[in-house]
Amino acid sequence: MARVIVVGAGVVGLTCAVRLLEAGHRVDVVARDLPLETTSAVAAAIWYPYLAEPVDLVGRWSRTTYAALEALAGGEPEAGVRMAEGSVVSPDGIATEVVPLVEMPLYLRWLAARVEDLGGTVTRLNLSALPSGGDVVVNCSGLGARLLAADHDVQPVQGQVVVVEQFGLDRWWLDPAGPTYVVPRSHDVVVGGTEVHGAWSRSPSPATAAEILDRAAALVPALRGARVLRHKVGLRPARSTVRVERTGGVVHCYGHGGSGVTLSWGTADDVVTLVG
Ligand SMILES: Cc1cc2nc3c(=O)[nH]c(=O)nc-3n(C[C@H](O)[C@H](O)[C@H](O)COP(=O)(O)OP(=O)(O)OC[C@H]3O[C@@H](n4cnc5c(N)ncnc54)[C@H](O)[C@@H]3O)c2cc1C
Repeated sequence: MARVIVVGAGVVGLTCAVRLLEAGHRVDVVARDLPLETTSAVAAAIWYPYLAEPVDLVGRWSRTTYAALEALAGGEPEAGVRMAEGSVVSPDGIATEVVPLVEMPLYLRWLAARVEDLGGTVTRLNLSALPSGGDVVVNCSGLGARLLAADHDVQPVQGQVVVVEQFGLDRWWLDPAGPTYVVPRSHDVVVGGTEVHGAWSRSPSPATAAEILDRAAALVPALRGARVLRHKVGLRPARSTVRVERTGGVVHCYGHGGSGVTLSWGTADDVVTLVG
């Protein structure tokens, strides 16, 4: 069994850490941003493959993750995952689907606690290069791979959301064309969104927020009266293809774009295989 250092405490790094610990490895997670400060904490989050390639692997990783999240929804109430019915709106009409809905603040806390329960650690550390010292380093640094892996194929795709008070909404709505989505959580509702390629700013724009709420109210008219609680911007780590690959003592796992939650358990299983 190896001593593994996982770089990154977003949904991808924490999920890899859980699977590696379950496989019997010794695991320490290090990250500049702790779980609730990451892009992952901004996600809505619906199980929905979006802005990630290649299609065949994304299909396999998504199916694995669906099964893992469905099991959590059935057996781990503290994880913040539930199976929820919602509507996907397209030019062809409205389709009803049931998918895992993940309440990220609860879920990231649950993942971090699971890492620690299994004997792993999560420590804040801002790195200027990938660390040495472990037998294997697993690089789950998302956009940070531009620096840590000198990979300029990783680009930000900025997404803005508005969080409003819960007004009795139980089902989710999604129009991928916007993207426009309305995702109910236990105490609030996440309303999105935007997809701005190459934008680095994490400052919410009031004009964009008004435009998001307008679009979303066309899907869910009751939104119009809901009180706004906060505004958030996240930078999705997009890449021409998700990178899950071993080079020497480093296993890379980043570039999940708009699907980090949706692919997380699938890519973590592949990382365990690559660590060996
Ligand atoms: C508005 C919005 C809505 C979204 N909705 C969904 C959704 O509904 N479903 C879905 O599946 N996905 C969704 N996503 C996408 C999802 O959030 C991302 O794909 C996911 O968060 C990527 O996770 P990650 O762990 O790779 O990266 P991150 O969460 O960004 O984590 C990267 C980690 O690496 C660390 N790191 C980086 N550089 C360094 C360094 N130099 N030293 C130390 N540590 C470093 C960071 O500090 C952080 O801990 C959404 C994203 C946004 C912005």
